[in-house]
Amino acid sequence: MARIVMKFGGTSMAGIERIRSVAERVRREVDDGNQVAVVVSAMAGETDRLIQFCREAASLYDPREYDVVVASGEQVTSGLLAIMLQSMGVAARSWMGWQLPIMTSDAHSTARISGIDAKAIDTAISGGEVAVIPGFQGMSAGGRLATLGRGGSDTSAVAVAAAMKADRCDIYTDVDGVYTTDPRIVPRARKLSRVTYEEMLELASVGAKVLQTRSVGLAMKKGVRVRVLSSFDDGRDEGGHRGTLIVGDEEIGESDMEEQLITGIAHDKNEAKVTLTSVPDKPGAVASIFTPLAAAEINVDMIVQNFARDTGNTDVTFTVPAADLARSIDVLEREKPSIGFRELSHDTNVCKISVVGVGMRSHAGVAATMFQTLADRGINILAIATSEIKISVLIEEDYTELAVRVLHTAYGLDADEEAA
Ligand code: ASP
Ligand code: MG
Repeated sequence: MARIVMKFGGTSMAGIERIRSVAERVRREVDDGNQVAVVVSAMAGETDRLIQFCREAASLYDPREYDVVVASGEQVTSGLLAIMLQSMGVAARSWMGWQLPIMTSDAHSTARISGIDAKAIDTAISGGEVAVIPGFQGMSAGGRLATLGRGGSDTSAVAVAAAMKADRCDIYTDVDGVYTTDPRIVPRARKLSRVTYEEMLELASVGAKVLQTRSVGLAMKKGVRVRVLSSFDDGRDEGGHRGTLIVGDEEIGESDMEEQLITGIAHDKNEAKVTLTSVPDKPGAVASIFTPLAAAEINVDMIVQNFARDTGNTDVTFTVPAADLARSIDVLEREKPSIGFRELSHDTNVCKISVVGVGMRSHAGVAATMFQTLADRGINILAIATSEIKISVLIEEDYTELAVRVLHTAYGLDADEEAA
């Protein structure tokens, strides 16, 4: 017997027929003698529809009331799943976020979970009843309904798993796992059987969106074993080997880690490059650029500084989220007198390519391979950033697909011909 959380995303819950197959899957786990809590999303498209209603009602709306509206999508699907399970003869009961409760901060529409009272879930599942819990919602410190931000059901599922000390948290979605890279770019991308929390965080934050990034951070903190798998695969899950398991370093094992240098390659087109020319080369110059950006809550990612010997000045290049570019320009132009740069130029036709892998920690030459592979294809590198398990380069956007493909091959990630 195991304690498990099963989480189903919007496409898995979109309509009665799909909810029926979700219920079948839940029943199989119950029949196998497991104690099960299910966390559900709203039907696909429903949250967008509800948000649109709020916008039409008023251009400026109270986030507390927005939460009341948008949390309703998950209330519907959890009730429907409980009805469906009961009709199959499986004992089931729904538990809204405020009933348990799932306690959150007061930041309505982007609340954080502060704690979960697992008593009701515990009693229910110990007695053989399935607990069905709407994702995305909780109760704020002020006692009102609150939601967790888009994609928040993943975080709900991981938090519930931690609170009920589940053996694992299975996240059912419309893909069958986490891949070495985007399979639409590289058809020979391979599904990973395991990936570490840290790698998953890096892959998610650089654009490989399978789970809400916050949920991975929470799983890492609480040590929740998360598995991502498809709800559209037929057949039984023999021994729990389907999908991708997200676990701590210690479970990957030294030998795997040394064999596999790079785990995955991600790309992110949502960055913009900004260059300030002729910044005075003196203490405090760089601080005068990044302090006002930080004050405006603009997240700077990659930074390069070039010293020009003839002028004694430096050029500073960095990236910001493309959505924040206009604001960044505004802030920098305002600070121009105190920064003292000559010109500001910017470019949104750029893409960040990242190679990620815990194997990098114990190997030299990972960066050299990346730079040489790109150089062989005539791809120019505009900026570089590294962490212990990641190397990112900024390139022209037109070369994105080519860069991902050649790097995937260079690091030996391509699947065998037969498997592809
Ligand atoms: N229904 C919410 C959304 O679409 C939460 C979720 O599904 O994770 O963002
Ligand atoms: Mg989702």
